[in-house]
Amino acid sequence: MPLATAERALLEERRTLTREEAMAVARLPLDELPALVALAHRVRLSWCGAEVELESLINAKSGACAEDCAFCSQSAHFETGVDVYPFLDLDEVLGAARATRDAGATQFCIVVAVRGPSERLLGRVLDAVRVVREETGLEVAVSLGLLEPDQARRLADAGVRRYNHNLETCREVFPQVCTTHGYDDRVATARLAAEAGMELCCGGILGLGETLEQRVDFAFELAALDPVEVPINLLDPRPGTPLANRELLTPREALQAIALFRLILPGAWIRLAGGREKVLGELQAMGLYAGANALIVGNYLTTLGRAPEDDVALLESLGMPVATGPGEGRFVVAADGTHALPPKPPRIQLRVE
Ligand code: SF4
Repeated sequence: MPLATAERALLEERRTLTREEAMAVARLPLDELPALVALAHRVRLSWCGAEVELESLINAKSGACAEDCAFCSQSAHFETGVDVYPFLDLDEVLGAARATRDAGATQFCIVVAVRGPSERLLGRVLDAVRVVREETGLEVAVSLGLLEPDQARRLADAGVRRYNHNLETCREVFPQVCTTHGYDDRVATARLAAEAGMELCCGGILGLGETLEQRVDFAFELAALDPVEVPINLLDPRPGTPLANRELLTPREALQAIALFRLILPGAWIRLAGGREKVLGELQAMGLYAGANALIVGNYLTTLGRAPEDDVALLESLGMPVATGPGEGRFVVAADGTHALPPKPPRIQLRVE
């Protein structure tokens, strides 16, 4: 019954789910997972199409972060043995961007482990954005932590297409995983990025100890920000962090969560990110049948991923085409409940080489 209600809402009435409707689906026994996955896949095809967006990351400044996010090996508060280095040379960033393009991805995300950028760091990132866009034609996303309004505007003016700033987890759980900044700080930066004209990429990490209900709340808190992209990381506990001994989600719990996120965020790019190999194991392909339609290819910030060509081969075998550019294929819901492709922002020039 809850699945039939969700199906009618999303595929016939073309409307998003209420919290009660989503919660009823979440409470179904895991034995009903195949039916949930099948619905999530149909919703994904109907709202977004079959394309899968590929992106790769560069950890352009690693470690020694002043914040204390309990899942993160880059925090200076924990002894994790993670690499610590300042912002990479422009040549290194450009080399990684070229490798990204050669691997078939269309978006390159420059990630910096800081609370927020200093003027000097922001200047270096803006230089890197310009060079990567000019030299590779890739769309560029950045993740620089908390922003001031002027910083968001300068990033948008430099042609940054998408700004990543995760909420990480739901409002209720957040104080248990971070004490050096607040949930509302994160929400404020997510809003700033969108107001400045960048697409918002906003997701988090599942498996931090949240309940199933809190996982659903988290998806609704994200939906309230209307993100273009929602990265889903699955906790891969890092040695030395306070969550080092946290149990992994089971593959079925992870698939259930991915499918619920698709039902709650029907028009977003839902990107499988860190931890997918570790948590989903043999069931990775199922993630793409459970509603996910984007992948991080190559390595993650502090953990190794698998070879990009393996993911491209996986997509071929699934009959899922690689998206030719970020944002294409995304549908938005209009006030009357219908959905349509949004126009691409005019400042974006996609060059596929
Ligand atoms: S998640 Fe980001 S802000 Fe938090 S400790 Fe890690 S790098 Fe710093």
